[in-house]
Amino acid sequence: MNDFSAKSRKEHIRQLKDTEFDLLVIGGGITGAGIALDAVTRGLKVALVEKKDFAWGTSSRSTKLIHGGLRYLKQLEIGLVREVGMERAVVYRNAMHIVRPEKMLLPIIIGGSLGKTMSSFGLWVYDFLADVDSEEKRKMLTVKKTAKTEPLLRTDVLKGGGLYYEYRSDDARLTIENIKTAVRNGALCLNYIEVEDFELDANNRIEQIRVKDHIGHENLIIRAKEVVNATGPWVDTLRVKKGGRLSNRKLHLTKGVHIVVPYQKLPLKQSVYFDVESDNRMVFAIPRGNITYIGTTDTTYNQDIGTPTADFSDVEYILNAANFIFPSVNLKVEDVISSWAGLRPLIHEEGKDPSELSRKDEIFYGENGLISIAGGKLTGYRKMSERVVDVVVERLGGRVKGVGECKTETLGLGGYFKSEKEMEKFIIARTGESKQIGLKQKDVHALVLKYGKETDLIIEKAFELYPTIKDVEKRIHIAELWYSIHHEMSHNLSDYLIRRTGRLYFERTEIEAVKTYLNDCLTKEFSWDETESNQSLDDFNQEYFSVVAFKEGSKTPSV
Ligand SMILES: Cc1cc2nc3c(=O)[nH]c(=O)nc-3n(C[C@H](O)[C@H](O)[C@H](O)COP(=O)(O)OP(=O)(O)OC[C@H]3O[C@@H](n4cnc5c(N)ncnc54)[C@H](O)[C@@H]3O)c2cc1C
Repeated sequence: MNDFSAKSRKEHIRQLKDTEFDLLVIGGGITGAGIALDAVTRGLKVALVEKKDFAWGTSSRSTKLIHGGLRYLKQLEIGLVREVGMERAVVYRNAMHIVRPEKMLLPIIIGGSLGKTMSSFGLWVYDFLADVDSEEKRKMLTVKKTAKTEPLLRTDVLKGGGLYYEYRSDDARLTIENIKTAVRNGALCLNYIEVEDFELDANNRIEQIRVKDHIGHENLIIRAKEVVNATGPWVDTLRVKKGGRLSNRKLHLTKGVHIVVPYQKLPLKQSVYFDVESDNRMVFAIPRGNITYIGTTDTTYNQDIGTPTADFSDVEYILNAANFIFPSVNLKVEDVISSWAGLRPLIHEEGKDPSELSRKDEIFYGENGLISIAGGKLTGYRKMSERVVDVVVERLGGRVKGVGECKTETLGLGGYFKSEKEMEKFIIARTGESKQIGLKQKDVHALVLKYGKETDLIIEKAFELYPTIKDVEKRIHIAELWYSIHHEMSHNLSDYLIRRTGRLYFERTEIEAVKTYLNDCLTKEFSWDETESNQSLDDFNQEYFSVVAFKEGSKTPSV
């Protein structure tokens, strides 16, 4: 079994150089993670490389919902809605610690995109296609009931509402849990390794893959029988490398922005999926602990793929939408405490607007043998992965013996629980056991929603730190940081505060006080010199300020 520790880098690099893999997966987002897990559990020898950190691309910047995509019904994408709708239950069952049921309110308004009858019918079809359990089936509400369910809604345009179920998740953690499970099953998964080019054999097929190790600052060669390009927004960048070319099917990137406000500023009783008055799009407002986040936008993106950020106009659009439907809250730019922007790797369709582009996935075959996958949703990653690995297995044919069937439908992820009951019991037991070191039920609960049963390792570490670190918050932080280095391959402050814990987005105001201290811990752990230590802090600070950079020169938006 491989380990997933940042401290084993030397050994991991040795394996990467010395092994011939059946499959190399390029890209450590949810798609690459799902493919690596599927392939290794079928018996293939698998490596996955990611140029930055796992989930650094779109897979840490989504709306973080495991959902069937209600709005795709309007576009008659029945097959897509059915597949992702059914996958919701599978992803929940395999990782219920990070995929939580979420009640969603759909207000029906005058001039909205769906009338009362169509909303009722749409939600019924949605439940039917996804084969939803009876207690989670949609309920249609009167105006009075809708207003009571969410008192912040404006009532002058309200015609009623629909209440239905989706699942809320943490995209980056779902990615990490997939990678962690792949590693436990024998895959070698490394971050900060960038694929730069391919070497072809006499038949013009990829024989070797040239990569750069951004931590060891070395150029390396990887050997693999098959190569999958799962680089999301970067898919076309690799498709045109040596021996490859774009067909008329190419990517169309669209940017989606979310903003975060303190919960007290938008104290919703549950999530709301509402019409934007100005353009008939739909936007989510999702309460989560001490904050509420709202999004998203959908605009064609032609700038640098690596650095999408929220512009003032994106923020203004979202604030105007929220202020229209929740008129009493009067959100202002100053209220926004964080944001994120992600790029959808969609397939271009001539003459279609961003919101009309299909979310279906598609596999492209390069003349050099490269298999590329693009499009799709976080929710549907497992089925997408299965389709890609089916292709890989077929191509490998007799070259690899003893390859089994896809196993991921019933494969628990990371620190998974088998049932809600088991999870509840675990939280109660650990709360009792860790009272002595000052952990409260809410602390244990928060840890379990990230790490599942592996919370045990963090609590053990917190016990070990107890005699020397008195402040309980600090103790949890350091125990989590330690875990993320030794068990989740965190290499720097940004890996920990953004992709392993989501704190930059959801607890930005709280991390100001601890970021320097945490960086000092990393400095000790990795024996960094001053330059390396400053680099880690500077890189994080850049991200820390970029999530509110739109405020520069901003004015309060009009409604
Ligand atoms: C705003 C927004 C909201 C969304 N909301 C939802 C939602 O709520 N629910 C849902 O189901 N879906 C949602 N989606 C869609 C979903 O997030 C994406 O489909 C999914 O995350 C794409 O994952 P990916 O792995 O294909 O790409 P990515 O996550 O971008 O991963 C690709 C990775 O490849 C790496 N890479 C690139 N080039 C190289 C190279 N040369 N060498 C090595 N590595 C490389 C990148 O660094 C990156 O980490 C949303 C998307 C957006 C943009």
